[in-house]
Amino acid sequence: MTNIERHAYDVVVIGAGGAGLRAAIEARLAGMKTAVISKSLFGKAHTVMAEGGAAAAMGNRNARDNWMVHFRDTMRGGKFLNNFRMAELHAKEAPDRIWELETYGALFDRTPDGKISQRNFGGHEYPRLAHVGDRTGLELIRTLQQKIVSLQQEDYAETGDYDSRLRVFAETTITEIFVQDGRVAGCFGYYRESGDFVHFDAPSIVLATGGVGKSYKVTSNSWEYTGDGHALALRTGATLINMEFLQFHPTGMVWPPSVKGILVTESVRGDGGVLKNTSGKRFMFDYVPDVFRKQYAETEEEADRWYDDPDNNRRPPELLPRDEVARAINSEVKEGRGTEAGGVLLDIASRLPAEQVRKRLPSMYHQFKELADVDITKQPMEVGPTCHYVMGGVEVDADTAEAAVPGLFAAGEVSGGMHGSNRLGGNSLSDLLVFGKRAGEFAAKFAQANPRIRVKAGDIEAAVETALAPLTRGDAGENPYTLHADLQAVMGDLVGIIRRQGELEESLTKLAELKERVKKVGVGGGRRYNPGWHLALDLRNMVIVSECTAKAALEREESRGGHTREDHPGMSSKWRQVNLVCSYDGEDVHLTHKPVPTMRRELLELFEVSELSKYMTDEELAELAEGGA
Ligand code: FAD
Repeated sequence: MTNIERHAYDVVVIGAGGAGLRAAIEARLAGMKTAVISKSLFGKAHTVMAEGGAAAAMGNRNARDNWMVHFRDTMRGGKFLNNFRMAELHAKEAPDRIWELETYGALFDRTPDGKISQRNFGGHEYPRLAHVGDRTGLELIRTLQQKIVSLQQEDYAETGDYDSRLRVFAETTITEIFVQDGRVAGCFGYYRESGDFVHFDAPSIVLATGGVGKSYKVTSNSWEYTGDGHALALRTGATLINMEFLQFHPTGMVWPPSVKGILVTESVRGDGGVLKNTSGKRFMFDYVPDVFRKQYAETEEEADRWYDDPDNNRRPPELLPRDEVARAINSEVKEGRGTEAGGVLLDIASRLPAEQVRKRLPSMYHQFKELADVDITKQPMEVGPTCHYVMGGVEVDADTAEAAVPGLFAAGEVSGGMHGSNRLGGNSLSDLLVFGKRAGEFAAKFAQANPRIRVKAGDIEAAVETALAPLTRGDAGENPYTLHADLQAVMGDLVGIIRRQGELEESLTKLAELKERVKKVGVGGGRRYNPGWHLALDLRNMVIVSECTAKAALEREESRGGHTREDHPGMSSKWRQVNLVCSYDGEDVHLTHKPVPTMRRELLELFEVSELSKYMTDEELAELAEGGA
């Protein structure tokens, strides 16, 4: 019998990025015995890599900003497919979550009159991103960790044990969630270093595992982003929505090849950087779509004036939502106006004095100097699209963050709906604070109302068997690294930034083959720190989540946000009414259509009818005119 360490908690949070930490704090504040688990080192999560800032309509730089403008921008960015209630809660609650961080010890950059500074970002009408230079995520994680430590110190003072109410399990990967009597009962995983198994009995589990980018080769995401939370949710019987929407950030590094995909923050453009092709043309003026034409400058002069006088000029088109900019760069390169390495040029050197560039963008300055030997105060950066963020995710209730399985909650990038078909930059850090708090609060309530169930021994034994299977097969099995490279090739080549029916069909055939090969994956060596074994277990998740993306991408016959179909180039108002919901039967992924909830009338009235008519069907518009919805 395998030795398994066993723990009992009220709330287990899987993931220690911003969403997970914020959820854990809330659950502990509600008096729940809480565990927070992270696959990576404590403090190493995508949240720490966030550069530009957290979007919150505090109105510090422009008093006209408020939650309604933020809500409008978010819905426009997501092309009206967002879960409107999530977008509403997010816009209303983000300022409080930012101010609350300062009570935990965060120190954001300031305006000259001492308020939290806010910077411009794509798709946001006013300067809205609270930031700390270009290292905002670092401050966010540092502060949340500090809050956790202070809570642990309070617990120590009372109980003599720092971990008595809030314990961190770092470098621990969860591979299974158990459902018993129709609700969550616990989860199971392994310590990465020793390979020893660990089990948690808990009535409430919060998924906060981040995204899926590692299914693509060119990505800004690091090794942990293998869609574990998405796959765990599917396997427990919960559902994912709109997995076809992946954000390809327009500006990743393209040179040298070893760093291809690493993010170049949007703050470069927010602070005045412009995109040029190899002929020196500022090409974004050629790519402003009709739906955005009224809000964006038509000439370079107007665009440049906007930085100093935003009330009387329109925004530069470099600050269009990310999907638009990524497609524009893709087209320039395809038309032969890109660099040899397949990128375009991002110029901040000719736009800001060198000392300002170093002050406002210190990480970018060092990143290019150290990784590409480029001095961005003197030379342009070479950039191109990189897989960055998944808008799709676990289908949750907007108010409680609860998934379809009672006791299962999800927050942060792993959850779906909030960002519709495309996320605005800065909206993820605020999303994870708003919904991390909500998930922690409602997970705590659920745990208070539902006693712990002891997971059946047979279920745990089955989890052990699944985890050990790659080691049992040993070197004779399929090599996990080869499988990973093959998966990345399928997703990058056939389910990438521009999609076509034939290629998507081909991707599904290839994914079916890969799924069979993943069942035969094998690794040599033992359980003690064995990265090949870890990857073998992650592949099981990546392959089903990729299947969701490919199936949904084939099904959605329109182009919207982070889903571009060359064979269906326009947005369709019929498809705007549809959420694609993914479920899993243990073998295959299934898709169903579910109507997008109709926005409440007072929210609809925040938009002009002429704008709504670009997104809605004639029936919806007629109903609106009659006073319905
Ligand atoms: P993460 O912060 O990624 O945390 C996920 C956690 O889950 C980690 O602790 C991981 O170890 C753990 N985990 C995963 N699987 C398992 C498992 N099986 N078992 C146990 N633990 C597991 N957004 C903005 O709003 N503004 C920005 O300026 C910005 N800049 C960005 C820059 C970069 C380079 C990147 C990559 C992203 C950026 N984003 C930004 C996006 C944003 O950082 C992420 O979407 C957000 O941080 C996700 O937070 P999260 O808490 O959901 O997940």
